[in-house]
Amino acid sequence: MNPADCKTLKIATTMAEKLSKLHLTSLWDIILYAPLRYEDETHITPMSDLRIGESCLIEGRVIHQEMQFRPRRQLVARMENATGHAVFLRYLNFYPNLQAQLATGKTIRAMGQVRAGFYGTEMVHPKIMDASKSSELKETLTPVYPTVAGLNQATLRRIVAKALDNVNLCDTLPENLLSSLKLPDFASAIKMLHAPTPEYSASDLNNKNLPFFRRLKFDELLAQQLSMKLARNEREQQTATPLHHTGKLVDKLLSQLSFSLTNAQKKCLAEIQTDLSRTHPMHRLLQGDVGSGKTIVAALAALSAIEAGFQAALTAPTEILAEQHFSKFATWFNALNIPIAFLSGSLKKKEKQQVKDDLLSGKVRFVVGTHALFQDDVLFENLGFVIVDEQHRFGVSQRLRFKNKGDNVHQLMMSATPIPRTLAMGFFADLDVSVIDEMPKGRTPVKTHLKNSELRRNEIEQFVRKIIQDGRQAYWVCPLIEESEALQLKTATETFERLSQTFPELSIGLVHGKMKAAEKAAVMQQFVSGSLNALVATTVIEVGVDVPNATLMVIEHAERMGLSQLHQLRGRVGRGGGQSHCVLLFTEPLSDTAKERLRIIYQNTDGFEIARQDLQLRGPGEFLGAKQSGVPLLRFADIEKDIDLLETACRCANQMVQHQQNEVITKHLQRWLPNREVYLGV
Ligand code: ADP
Ligand code: MG
Repeated sequence: MNPADCKTLKIATTMAEKLSKLHLTSLWDIILYAPLRYEDETHITPMSDLRIGESCLIEGRVIHQEMQFRPRRQLVARMENATGHAVFLRYLNFYPNLQAQLATGKTIRAMGQVRAGFYGTEMVHPKIMDASKSSELKETLTPVYPTVAGLNQATLRRIVAKALDNVNLCDTLPENLLSSLKLPDFASAIKMLHAPTPEYSASDLNNKNLPFFRRLKFDELLAQQLSMKLARNEREQQTATPLHHTGKLVDKLLSQLSFSLTNAQKKCLAEIQTDLSRTHPMHRLLQGDVGSGKTIVAALAALSAIEAGFQAALTAPTEILAEQHFSKFATWFNALNIPIAFLSGSLKKKEKQQVKDDLLSGKVRFVVGTHALFQDDVLFENLGFVIVDEQHRFGVSQRLRFKNKGDNVHQLMMSATPIPRTLAMGFFADLDVSVIDEMPKGRTPVKTHLKNSELRRNEIEQFVRKIIQDGRQAYWVCPLIEESEALQLKTATETFERLSQTFPELSIGLVHGKMKAAEKAAVMQQFVSGSLNALVATTVIEVGVDVPNATLMVIEHAERMGLSQLHQLRGRVGRGGGQSHCVLLFTEPLSDTAKERLRIIYQNTDGFEIARQDLQLRGPGEFLGAKQSGVPLLRFADIEKDIDLLETACRCANQMVQHQQNEVITKHLQRWLPNREVYLGV
């Protein structure tokens, strides 16, 4: 919390710290703090009218109290009203004074959720009030906010009320806009948010779809759209060198390939080439499911830049992936006499220096590398085009560092995790998007098998042998267990030893995160060349590795992995012709989410559909990896459920920017996204 706001709200430092855990760091954060739900203490619900599932306030006399010990220690009180209707109050945890508060004969009020209990209607852990002391009912419904330990609801409500007293809730949006959208004014929406009048029931409010709630959702989505449209506009104002090319190099590479591009690949390449020939920096996201062939599109685009006389670079999030890209690009580009280099942190100092010198002198025209490419001392003669593979793995600020390595370089981001449409619209509206929505011909969908790892291991091992006897290769992947890298390594090593012992006639490799980069690369190279039949690996191979002859993927502890990770891994097979298999080994017991994830991956092969269901399961924050991408999360809107509002906000934002309603835009962004430059990096 900033000091000025602390002072206004009369908040001590310890309290400010608690608030910051809730991401409440300014007065306006508090004003825009969304309650989880509401409780209705504005009227007493007669005990004869109680409905299961609803939360309500009831009043009656305690007629019995007892301590029960089965199934565990609990305090149970029975309260009754004048007509003999009864409700049981049940407490599993309680302070000793509760027994006095619930003394037989007392008239009390209880606020809680009505449930169907074993003995009849009951409330578990209801809030209790002495009816004689609290005879006045509340005038507004009571918000219940998300909170942290040591910060109770009453305190939070007091802080919110204080904040409300200290701000001007003037509207940021013009009246005619609001009336055309049938949305209420901001001040009444905020007042309803924190202190809703009893015209609505708690369950109406909890639906979060009343006009006042929609107003806040709209405001928030509008701010998001505005900020991204502005970022896009700002980019349009910048000039970049247009990269004109004749297409000669592109044609040459195309003629060397053993396949021809799919129509989707051609369309995406054309979109990128058009961008490159413009005088504004390109900022394009190339989306495509695993195996859709993004790499070749990126390579062809890079050729356009190189032919135009500029250098180009590709950066990948892992050493192995960068290595793989390098060897692919080297085969393609060497044949065209284009000098290409590799740069990663694992190179010897001298080698690194050589690459840097060659980039600065312009001797090298294309470089593939890891994070090492972002370093300040990596300078180019004339960098014109950058490809960022697996863009979501890099932070925005990292990506932006590239911008300054040339004259507003053109950027192509590639994403292997398909981003559902709503999310793309909501969070990536500042990017242009090309989608490869077609797989290369002749691919047979991968068959997925779910197997209990304790019961079916032998069977799977025999399956590995059979695949290999057929001349194919297999992956056996052990997942990253975040709590314990050592355990992961142990699983991988044990699997490796076990397979090597069971099948002494096969050559099996092991690759894991603890190995030196050069060792990893050597093993990978053996697998790529086919001299290894099987590769046991920790999830270092997760992204991008391409070995078309591998047709079996066994995944250990699949229940611990996320959907996009599973989809990525499965995408490592099914790249050549022939039937490929993916065996998901799981260990019981399975959590509900794990079951759901396994069901989704088993039933679906389309990455976009998997991503959509993943988004539903996890919500946008986790889906995007909020921390990495720096994307601000939505407080009110739900990007899937509120698609209508998102579309409206998108339209309105376009109009506002087009008509240069700068005053409105500034005011609105100031309120909703005061820190927008932090995540946009503008
Ligand atoms: P991803 O989109 O997952 O990065 P890759 O670029 O690694 O996919 O491509 C996957 C595989 O498909 C590679 O072996 C690549 O050479 C091959 N490929 C790419 N485009 C085509 C195509 N049009 N026809 C056949 N194979 C293709
Ligand atoms: Mg790839």
